[in-house]
Amino acid sequence: MSEERSLNFIEEIIEEDIKNGKHGGRVHTRFPPEPNGYLHIGHAKSICLNFGLAQKYNGQTNLRFDDTNPEKEETEYVDSIKEDVKWLGFEWQNELYASDYFEQLYGFAVKLINKGKAYVDESTPDEIAGQKGTPTEAGTPSPWRDRPVEENLRLFAEMREGKYQDGEKVLRAKIDLASPNMHLRDPIMYRIRHAEHHRTGDAWCIYPMYDFAHGQSDSIEGITHSVCTLEFIPHRALYDWFIEELEIFPSKQYEFARLNMTYTLMSKRRLLQLVNEGFVNGWDDPRMPTISALRRRGYTAASIRDFCDRIGVAKRENVIDVSLLEFCIREDLNKTAWRRMAVLDPVKLVITNYPEGQEEVFHGENNPEAEDGEGSREIPFSRELWIEREDFMENPSKKYFRLGPGLMVRLKHAYIIKCDGFIKDEQGNVTEVHCSYIPESKSGDDVSGIKVKGTIHWVSVPHAVTAEIRLYDRLFRIEDPGADGLDFREYINPESLQIIPEAYMEPDMVNAEFGKGFQFIRKGYFTLDKESEPGKLVINRTVTLRDNWAKEARKG
Ligand code: ATP
Ligand code: MG
Repeated sequence: MSEERSLNFIEEIIEEDIKNGKHGGRVHTRFPPEPNGYLHIGHAKSICLNFGLAQKYNGQTNLRFDDTNPEKEETEYVDSIKEDVKWLGFEWQNELYASDYFEQLYGFAVKLINKGKAYVDESTPDEIAGQKGTPTEAGTPSPWRDRPVEENLRLFAEMREGKYQDGEKVLRAKIDLASPNMHLRDPIMYRIRHAEHHRTGDAWCIYPMYDFAHGQSDSIEGITHSVCTLEFIPHRALYDWFIEELEIFPSKQYEFARLNMTYTLMSKRRLLQLVNEGFVNGWDDPRMPTISALRRRGYTAASIRDFCDRIGVAKRENVIDVSLLEFCIREDLNKTAWRRMAVLDPVKLVITNYPEGQEEVFHGENNPEAEDGEGSREIPFSRELWIEREDFMENPSKKYFRLGPGLMVRLKHAYIIKCDGFIKDEQGNVTEVHCSYIPESKSGDDVSGIKVKGTIHWVSVPHAVTAEIRLYDRLFRIEDPGADGLDFREYINPESLQIIPEAYMEPDMVNAEFGKGFQFIRKGYFTLDKESEPGKLVINRTVTLRDNWAKEARKG
C-alpha cells in the first residue's frame, strides 16, 4: 500500500474510534463468505479491505463462513475459499463458522420470545409477503402476532424437534409493521429446512436467516468494524435492533461500494450458471473472474492486491474498467517475469550460409528488468529456425521493418540476417524463408557496422520444445453482460479461447515451474497451466503485452 494515499472513509471512522478509546482502541474485522461458490475478484476487494484494516491498525481478522443455507453450501467451497485467502497473502486469526453458533443463536431467539419480541407465525410465504404492505402503506399484523409467550416457546421448540414440514412455520421478530424500512416489518428469523448441512449434518432442521445470524455472529466474536457492501444499508437497522434487544457486544456495520468491473459477471450465482451450462470449463477456467481462475491464468497475488489498492474504497457505486486489472498484472510481470522466446504461428527460416550440422549457444538474461538479470539461460542456434509467420512479408510496405525480400533484421540474442528468397507451396503459402547471416554481427560482439530497425524472436528447429498454448481473451464481448434485461449467454465472446495445438519454444522451457510468469518476447505473458505434464506442456496466456481492446475502441 502506498503511504501517501489519503485515508478511506472506513479508516477515518476507525481512527476516530481509536482516538475515542472505543473498544479500548481494538480493531477486529472479519471476512464472511458464504461457502456456496468460489471467490471472485470482488471478494478480493473485501479480503484486502478487511485484512488490510487489521494489519494497518494492529488488529485481527476472522475468516467466518456464513453457512446458514444448507442446500447451497459445500465443503469443496470452504476449501477453495481458504486456499484463495491464503494465496492472496493473508492470515486469519480464527477460522469460524456461523453454524458453530447455532445453539447460541437458538438461545438468542428464545430470549427474544421471552421478551415478547418474537413469535411463531403459521402464515404461508404468500400471506407473509402480503402482510408486509408497501413502502407507502403500513403492513398488516399476522393473526399469530400476539400469541402468548408460552405458546411461542413450545412451538419454536417443536420446530427445532422436527415436528413440522418445511415452510409450515417461521419465527418472526416483532418490530414495527409501519416502519418505513421494510426490513423492520416483522422479519423472519428462522425457517424450517429439513436438509443436510455440510457441517452440522441433520442436527438441525431450523436455520437462522442471514439477518439473525450475521450481526449476532459478529457480536459473539467481538467484531468491532463489520464492513459489507452497500446493498446491506437497509439491513443495518435490523442488525442494530437485534444487538440492542439481546444486549450483546455492540458490533457496528459499515457499508462500502462493491467492485463492479467491465466485461465481467460478478456474482457467484451467475458464475455457477456459466460452469453448469458449460460456457466455461469449471470455476477455475482462466476466463472466469474467480481468484482460482486468475491464479491459474498467471495473475500474481501481488498484482491483485495492487489492483485492490488502486481502486480504493468508496461509498458510491462505480464500475472499474477491466483493463486496470490487466494493467496491474502487466506492471508486475514486466518486473518479475523471465523472458523466453516462443513461436506461436511458425514458418521455417533457413540460414543458407550457416553450415549444416553446426550449432552454437547464445545466452540470454532471464530478467533484464532486474539489476542482476537473475541469471541467464542457454539458447541454442542452428541453420534452421522457426520464426513467426507475421514476421515475413512477400511484398512489405515501407514501414515494415521485419523480413521481406532484401530486408535485414536482427535475430534476438544472435545475428543480423538478410532475406534472399522464399519458397511457396501450391496454395501460395510461404513454406520457407531463406536468409544469409552476417557472422560479424553477433549480439554483444557486433563489429559489422550494420544498423537494422527490427529485431525478431526465433527458436532453433532441432532444439525446439513444443507446447499447447491457450490464448485467452475476455469472456464477454460487451461491457455490461450482467445488465438488467440482458441474457449474458448471448454475449459470450466466441474468441475468448483460442488453442494453438503446437507452438515452438526455446528448450529451456522444459524447466518452467508452475506459478511462475514468463514473457514470450513480443507475444505477451504466459504461465504453465495445471494440466501441463512433463513431455506435454500446456501454457496459458495471462495477458497480452499491450491493451488490444483499447486499440479496437479507438478504431471505433
Ligand atoms: P455474490 O453476490 O457474488 O454471491 P455475496 O456477497 O453473496 O457475493 P458472500 O460470500 O456473501 O458473497 O460475500 C462475502 C463478502 O464479500 C461479503 O462481505 C460481501 O459483501 C463481499 N463481496 C461480495 N461481492 C463483492 C464485490 N463485488 N465487491 C466487494 N465485496 C464483495
Ligand atoms: Mg451472499
